[in-house]
Amino acid sequence: ARLTRPDLDVLPNYVPGRNPADLARELGLPKAIKLASNEVPYGPLPGVVEAVTEAVVSSHRYPDMGVVALRDALADQYGVAADRIATGCGSVALAEHLVRATCLPGDELLYAWRSFEAYPIIAATSGVTSVQVPNDAGHGHDLAAMAAAVTDRTRMILVCNPNNPTGTSVRRAELDRFLDAVPNDVLVVLDEAYREFVTDPEVPDGLAAYGDRANVVVLRTLSKAWGLAGLRIGFLVGQPAVADAVRKVVTPFSTSLAAQAAALAALTQAEEVRRRSALVVAERERVTELVRKLVPDVPASQANFVWLPLGDRAVDFAKACEARGVIVRPFAGDGVRVTIGTPEENDTFLAAAESALA
Ligand code: PMP
Repeated sequence: ARLTRPDLDVLPNYVPGRNPADLARELGLPKAIKLASNEVPYGPLPGVVEAVTEAVVSSHRYPDMGVVALRDALADQYGVAADRIATGCGSVALAEHLVRATCLPGDELLYAWRSFEAYPIIAATSGVTSVQVPNDAGHGHDLAAMAAAVTDRTRMILVCNPNNPTGTSVRRAELDRFLDAVPNDVLVVLDEAYREFVTDPEVPDGLAAYGDRANVVVLRTLSKAWGLAGLRIGFLVGQPAVADAVRKVVTPFSTSLAAQAAALAALTQAEEVRRRSALVVAERERVTELVRKLVPDVPASQANFVWLPLGDRAVDFAKACEARGVIVRPFAGDGVRVTIGTPEENDTFLAAAESALA
């Protein structure tokens, strides 16, 4: 007898980056390089390992479900009230909680496409209708078309800024216009997972620019610039009522003891995060310039990855890179996303890309 929902059969799985140790073994190489999951290559921040080690002494106890100390630290760091903050098991979990907190079955979740691959999965598993608005010719969000796609069933809109996987970003003036056009009973979620890598002053920091807009929520993660991908922690800032609603739908205790301790330690390292992010940004600019010699129409990226719009060649290109020990992320028929690594890793990728496209 069938035990699970038939609609899951056709739903794509979330695809994690391949394990580089497995690939190295397969190829008989001393090591392989993973540039597939938008991680930062510099290891945990100073103090994180010690803080987690100390915290796990209390592993037999539940963590603080109110996440009080961490929410206070986040409030300090970002200059917002703690009652506007909710944390979760990665910002991807918070995106799902926001959908659960705003949408009933049959309601519409609106977002650009292509964007973060988790969005359609979250919509489908929540019984919500995905409305995907195609990106513009430059691979970025078409905010005018997105505003025009709002219906009376639209409950939530995701704006991924910078956008995963294309690296494009929307600017202050267009986002202002968009927010003015969206009805105030629709929640606009600014997914700013890559905010720390933004250098274009025209790209707004959602917290600073839109913190006082009642229907805006800013989603951030500690997985990328803050180096905590493996511990799973993200947070959102919204109106207290929205943060409360999210805390209602959240799986109890899903911000783990280790995650809370790690995040508290990481947040003391803001200066180091800025230093590391600047290294990533410098490499992003270098890689963009060099890879454009091979793939001319690579869009400018404000994130820690670049997008190669290779169309039908995407999967073959990724396979060719893998054969040379470099794991990148293909999106079949569309393009390849390449995370910025260390300078040596990026050089290895560039060499692999050159031979792959030769
Ligand atoms: N939003 C975007 C745009 C992302 O690219 C990612 C990670 N790939 C996430 C959210 C989720 O990150 P996490 O769950 O690790 O916080």
